Amino acid sequence: MQTKMNSDFNIDRLVRKNVAQMKPYSSARDEFKADGRKMTFLDANENPFDNGVNRYPDPQQANLKSELAIQKGLREEHILLGNGSDEVLDLLFRAFCSPGRDNIITLPPTYGMYKVLADLNEVENREIFLKKNFQPDVDTILDEVDANTKLLFLCSPNNPTGNTFSEEAVLKLLNNFNGLLVIDEAYIDFSSQESWLKRLQEFPNLVITQTLSKAYGQAGIRLGICYASTEIISILNKIKPPYNVNVLTQQKALERLQATEEVELEIKKILGQKGFLEKELSKISFVSEIFPSEANFLLARVDNADQRYEQLLKKEIVVRNRSNQPLCENTIRFTVGTMAENIKLVKALQEIEMNNQKEMASK
Ligand SMILES: *Cc1c(COP(=O)(O)O)cnc(C)c1O
Repeated sequence: MQTKMNSDFNIDRLVRKNVAQMKPYSSARDEFKADGRKMTFLDANENPFDNGVNRYPDPQQANLKSELAIQKGLREEHILLGNGSDEVLDLLFRAFCSPGRDNIITLPPTYGMYKVLADLNEVENREIFLKKNFQPDVDTILDEVDANTKLLFLCSPNNPTGNTFSEEAVLKLLNNFNGLLVIDEAYIDFSSQESWLKRLQEFPNLVITQTLSKAYGQAGIRLGICYASTEIISILNKIKPPYNVNVLTQQKALERLQATEEVELEIKKILGQKGFLEKELSKISFVSEIFPSEANFLLARVDNADQRYEQLLKKEIVVRNRSNQPLCENTIRFTVGTMAENIKLVKALQEIEMNNQKEMASK
């Protein structure tokens, strides 16, 4: 296995010039930090009457970061929080990719947001398809890299395929790519594979994103997390909107992070239900393949995804047709629901199967 240290990595070469040179917006809360004293705040033109949200949020989300730092075993300076991981990803583009000049690499089939952000920021998106086994094609990826390749997105566990990427492949990329290697770990809490967070200190080019939207059950509050070197975090901090995580989100997220037993129990239930769903799907005759999943969803290949999708809609069940993604012809992605929801889905699929057989018999 490759162990070469990535000695050519240089963060100053990666950051956009305008970002390196700019001064960040200085908010009232940045200019004066209460150091425990009881101050009278007449600095931010807020309405003084307390209703719970009349004050601006803490721009640095100190309470939330302190909890995350303890739980994850790293310093707060390695953490940046955003309005969902989508904002975190957008900040990465805006800090490191010059429009019309730089490029990124993504590995379809994968999360659609990387491409949307590349298009939005006028950054070339070099797509290197995953191999047939849904693992990264490491040598082809490294061949595509040039001096303007700023970001490489690995989604592990990957959406929509559900698998994690091999340690060997990720290590080789970390050791040989001199841009930022972003590992999107939105589904890591469902996975048997460990987060790359434990190895953050080893790799100056490693950026890890996580979210409260999936395992933590808080898609509605929009909280995304970025872990990286202190140098990378301070660059992102410089360009983030000052009050990007609102008061209610900070409160809710802190409560949820502290409810570890409840979160773990829900994850266990979801994984148990995934097993049930996998077993039942495998009995449906028009399901030909179910891909191994380390996430809270299953990607399955069917005979005719458009038709099966419509039939499920008629039964008031919405799944995701992933057929237009490369390597995913005739696939449907099923999110694991509650036991009742999963039973409803299985029953619907069984009914569709029976009607199908009746039609065939009458022909
Ligand atoms: C759902 C998902 C996210 C979540 O994004 P948020 O903006 O934090 O809700 C991020 N990455 C992937 C791959 C996802 O599937």
